Amino acid sequence: VDDNGDLKALIRTIPDFPKPGIQFRDITTLLLDPVGLARCVERMVAATEGPIDLVAGIEARGFLFAAALAVPLKAGVLLIRKDGKLPGATIAEDYALEYGQDRIAMHADACAPGARVLLIDDLIATGGTARAAVRLLRKAGASVAQAQFLVDLPDLGGAALLRDDGVVVHALVS
Ligand code: 5GP
Repeated sequence: VDDNGDLKALIRTIPDFPKPGIQFRDITTLLLDPVGLARCVERMVAATEGPIDLVAGIEARGFLFAAALAVPLKAGVLLIRKDGKLPGATIAEDYALEYGQDRIAMHADACAPGARVLLIDDLIATGGTARAAVRLLRKAGASVAQAQFLVDLPDLGGAALLRDDGVVVHALVS
């Protein structure tokens, strides 16, 4: 693995998942590749600007990259989960889906005011999930200046919206 195209080649597309008409970008094939996985982590670490206190990972694939980045960045991991999964007192944020809405949550005491947080997920599409995560983290007092993704689907516009929210957005594959 030595360029973006090779990382892309490790991601497969599953048609009609989770419902008809959706082309699902499946990164489990990249996770299975030791060289590809290491390259992803190295590149995400290299793209990180300045010191980071916490890497916030979005359930569930975001957790994998959050932990892998947090160790070399000497940061902790903050979990952003579907509402109802975390055991302690939480704060939550709603976001719109194509039909209906969803809610993500984090432990209310997970970050100190002003903590420098890097947000991570496997993929950004419409940006609904990542933008809700930024709102949630900022509500908790975090400073969220950067977000990273393995994959950006630029036609869906999420990365542009997240940039409008004042976040530097970086993705390895577009
Ligand atoms: P968004 O909120 O930006 O529309 O969707 C992004 C969220 O949905 C992320 O948490 C991501 O894991 C998941 N997601 C949406 N579409 C895909 C896809 O094609 N592949 C993968 N791996 N995740 C997706």
